[in-house]
Amino acid sequence: MSPGAAPLRSIEALRVEGRHVFVRADLNVPLRGTAIADDSRIRASRRTLDWLRERGARVVLASHLGRPKGERRPELSLAPVADALGLPLAEDCVGAAAEKAVARLAEGDAVLLENLRFHAGEERNDSSFVAALARLADVYVNDAFGTAHRAHASTEGLARATPERAAGFLMQLEVEMLSRLRDEPEHPYVCILGGAKVSDKLAVIEALAERADTLCIGGAMAYTFMLARGESAGLSRVEPGLVDTARRLLDGETEILLPLDHVVAPALDRPGEARTVEEIPSDAIALDIGPRSIEQIAGRVRKAGTIFWNGPLGLFETPPFDEGSRAIAEACAASGAFSVVGGGDSLAAVAAAGVGERISHLSTGGGASLEYLEGRALPGVKALEAEA
Ligand code: AMP
Repeated sequence: MSPGAAPLRSIEALRVEGRHVFVRADLNVPLRGTAIADDSRIRASRRTLDWLRERGARVVLASHLGRPKGERRPELSLAPVADALGLPLAEDCVGAAAEKAVARLAEGDAVLLENLRFHAGEERNDSSFVAALARLADVYVNDAFGTAHRAHASTEGLARATPERAAGFLMQLEVEMLSRLRDEPEHPYVCILGGAKVSDKLAVIEALAERADTLCIGGAMAYTFMLARGESAGLSRVEPGLVDTARRLLDGETEILLPLDHVVAPALDRPGEARTVEEIPSDAIALDIGPRSIEQIAGRVRKAGTIFWNGPLGLFETPPFDEGSRAIAEACAASGAFSVVGGGDSLAAVAAAGVGERISHLSTGGGASLEYLEGRALPGVKALEAEA
């Protein structure tokens, strides 16, 4: 744990044998119909689950899935996740159905509760919903770092209502790795930021501009910065309202690198006509960074002490516009720096390049990771601090 981060209550200090342990996991997997499109979150939740079961805990596992907004929506049932985990599913997360399923648990058994967000009380952190959840277990473990930025019933209210509480292994790992980035990065600290919109990432860009030595901006975000520098962006996606903000950031102390060349096409759906240019023509859209830009970032990455990368550097879903992101995944993996990659598309680029093993930490926390790096207190993490 780094000096700036308060230590979290550890799961290893809990007495769990024979006891009912509520585990808030992040099983919010992408679904295609009832098929799980990507099971990484399920796999990531196993360590805490197995650890508790091996020690004879009676595990009450809970998660949200999608945004049912307080209504029971059959298409957002956690049934496919229960199947993937090989666990029974209680048909509700509170009330008689849940209590019955929990009462039946033998030592080492686990049950998955139905989607927490079928109840409006979850997102409202409603005290009666917290009380209904609290009836199910005596011990609380939160392993859902990805929802720790939300003060919901299962992430904050229930934690505070359960004196015996701790962070699961995944939560612990995310906080440890991200606090190292936030509080004691080894220099040079190089951040690579991509993705669609400056507006989504503005807070994190501003926070990282204060800590990093170099910010490399790619993805559609880069073109707003290019306009701010007086360069042409052609038909690329820009946010005119943020040009002044981009200019202020460019005028700051931190080195900000923008793409030196671009892979452009006449339209999003004409990838066959992709070509590399140094200046974006007025009738073209820039959809990826080019080879000189890749080399520019790779050069900084080679000399870095710490690397953080979030957001794709191009229209990653459509080849050949995935090449920039893949090349950067390879550069991060080849570097000897402490490297953290986060965000769905960047993680997919790392997986596609087959270099996951050589990245120090693959952060699955999404928006929560960015808020943590901004220096904001996450309610779900705060509730697990030793003195909380
Ligand atoms: P975000 O969710 O902000 O990380 O943005 C991810 C999205 O940005 C992905 O769907 C990418 O395809 C898209 N994106 C990245 N670069 C570009 C670009 N140059 N033009 C259009 N979309 C882009």
